[in-house]
Amino acid sequence: MPDTLNVLILGGTDEARRLAAALAGRAGTRVVSSLAGRVRDPKLPVGEVREGGFGGPGGLAAWLAEHGVHVVVDATHPFAARMTASAVEAADRTGLPLLILRRPGWREAPGDDWRWVPSLEAAAELLPSLGERVFLTTGRRSLPVFAGLDGQWFLARSVDMPGPLVPRRLEVLLSRGPFTVDGELALMREHRVEVLVTKDSGGEMTTAKLFAARELGLPVVIVRRPPPPEGVASVESVEAALAWLESAAGPGSV
Ligand code: NAP
Repeated sequence: MPDTLNVLILGGTDEARRLAAALAGRAGTRVVSSLAGRVRDPKLPVGEVREGGFGGPGGLAAWLAEHGVHVVVDATHPFAARMTASAVEAADRTGLPLLILRRPGWREAPGDDWRWVPSLEAAAELLPSLGERVFLTTGRRSLPVFAGLDGQWFLARSVDMPGPLVPRRLEVLLSRGPFTVDGELALMREHRVEVLVTKDSGGEMTTAKLFAARELGLPVVIVRRPPPPEGVASVESVEAALAWLESAAGPGSV
């Protein structure tokens, strides 16, 4: 085992920040967190951070070798499928251990009216049959998919301002979680929302909208996650990731 375990965390999520915080300052461990660099003012993890794409799996493999990385934790968002695929291929090429840290998806409960769809495009297709006033929480980069729906009015919540291709009838709400159920209820009532659209992101930070939709009896169009890669170690919590790292590095070292 090396004296210092060099860990690369592919981040951009709350779990990635919590993992970096848990590992920060531990003797024998050096952590670099990687962000895509898409958000103008990102929530930064503690410790060392790098930003920007690697240039595909080859670029990532080269970066791992150049920086002497021993272990990669892919803690990106469940919908960041390209980054995950790239991490799997780079780990294959370099022979490095890879762990996927992916929070569990949301579960439907009694009183929910969820319509599972395989893609944003399928969500857009379904919307006209469900309602006119739509609360869209799928991120600014998803807005072009809904741009052709002139019969719908959209409230789109995102962290940064969307680009030019957006639905004609649109109000943008710049905001980032966590959100409360009371806040979501007030927002949906104020805007007379009839249907909610979300990805199955999972996690606590943005789950309040689902409770609010249930309370208001609104349908929720929910986009399924891309399938996880096969044959790769994966865990659902930061605690499990820490335990996995400890076993990968040897007891007492993480
Ligand atoms: P993606 O489609 O899977 O990734 C596209 C490209 O962006 C990747 O091929 C990679 O470029 C670069 N990239 C993505 N994550 C990176 C990271 N952590 N560090 C360095 N480069 C990264 O990802 P995405 O859906 O655009 O998400 C981008 C970032 O936002 C991710 O870090 C993710 O955790 C975070 N995020 C995404 C969502 C979402 O709904 N998708 C929501 C919240 C947060 P190269 O090929 O050049 O290496």
